Amino acid sequence: MFDVKHHIADDLMAAYAAGSLPHPYALVVASQISMNDEARARYEAQLAVGGSVLDELGSSEISGDFKSRLMDMLDDAPAEPIRAPRRPQGVFPGPLMEAMNGRQPKWKSLGFGVKQSIIYAGEDGSTRLLYIPAGQAVPEHGHNGLEMTLVLQGAFSDEGGRYGVGDVEVTDEDVDHVPVAEEGLPCICVAATNAPLRFKGFLPRMLQPVFGI
Ligand code: ZN
Repeated sequence: MFDVKHHIADDLMAAYAAGSLPHPYALVVASQISMNDEARARYEAQLAVGGSVLDELGSSEISGDFKSRLMDMLDDAPAEPIRAPRRPQGVFPGPLMEAMNGRQPKWKSLGFGVKQSIIYAGEDGSTRLLYIPAGQAVPEHGHNGLEMTLVLQGAFSDEGGRYGVGDVEVTDEDVDHVPVAEEGLPCICVAATNAPLRFKGFLPRMLQPVFGI
C-alpha cells in the first residue's frame, strides 16, 4: 500500500461522499479511493457522518473565494458518487478505465515529451491524463480555478513538496508552480480543472488554445 502524504481535504471528500462534487473532480477522488485504503477509510467516515462537514466548509486550507465558488458548483452537481472499485487495473484505476471505456489512453504531444489524454470534458470542467518524462518539467503556470492532480505512476515535485503514487495536490489561483517529474519512471498523473491554466512563458501561452489546456 502506498504511503500517502498528500490527502484530499475533508470538505472535498465530504462533497464527494454526498455525490455533489463536480464530475471532473469526482473522477480523481474515486481513483484515489480505489488505489488507497486510507483514502477509502476517510471516504467511508464521511459517508457515516452523512455530509455534515459540508455545512461547515471552513476547516481546510483552501481559499475563501474558491470555497464560495465550490459551493456554487455543488448546487448543480450530479447526485451519485462514481463507483470506486477496490482493485486498480495496472496504472489506471477502475474509475479511469471506465471513463476510457476500458481502452488505453490516446496520447497527444504537448512538446518536450509531455503528453496528455483528455478523458472527460464538460461544462463543469475537464479531466486529463498527463505523461511527463522522467526529469522533465511542466511549464510554470498559475490557475484560474481549482486544479486537482493525482499521481498514478512515478512522482513529481514542486513548490508544495513531493508527490508520489496515490498523492493528491490541490491548487487554486493563489498558487503558481513548476511541477518536475522525478528521475526514474515517467510520471503519469490524472488532473481535473474547471478553468484554463495561466502559463507564464510565451510559447506555452501560444500553444494553449491549440491543445486546450
Ligand atoms: Zn498546476
